[in-house]
Amino acid sequence: MTVSKILISACLLGHAVRYDGKGKPLAHPAIDQWREEGRLVTICPELAGGMSVPRPPAEIENGMTGADVLAGRARVVEITGGEVTEAFIAGAYRALEFAQAHGCTHALLIDGSPSCGSGFIYDGSFAGKRHAGNGVTAALLENAGIIVRSDRQMDEMVDILARV
Ligand code: SF4
Repeated sequence: MTVSKILISACLLGHAVRYDGKGKPLAHPAIDQWREEGRLVTICPELAGGMSVPRPPAEIENGMTGADVLAGRARVVEITGGEVTEAFIAGAYRALEFAQAHGCTHALLIDGSPSCGSGFIYDGSFAGKRHAGNGVTAALLENAGIIVRSDRQMDEMVDILARV
């Protein structure tokens, strides 16, 4: 039987890769089980794209989404004004290559991130305003047919994988 592998945001496993130098570990028995089964494939797309820790927070501008960034219609900008679109796109493609090289059919990514968000992202105003949409990596993975769910959808992901 082929076992589905799961790409997972590095910060969800507690790796200190977020912009603020912290992780955001998700405690869930399924994560422990998948880890023991050797099914987790870990990456931080922003670091894979060449960014460092810590780094200024970044958002996709003008209420646009990761799909807009991939289509060249939107930029990713840091709160300090720097543009990091290229790094975000490069990181998304590295994450996709990594996922495909490891046979990942599913991805569990942390929500809200301009890279990994899949349920919501922030609107580019740096005012804490959320809107529905994907980050750049989540959009690219979904375009490639990988099933993406957020950390807020753990139970749904468990159900989906139970049916595979
Ligand atoms: S890019 Fe993804 S894995 Fe990296 S810190 Fe942001 S949310 Fe976590």
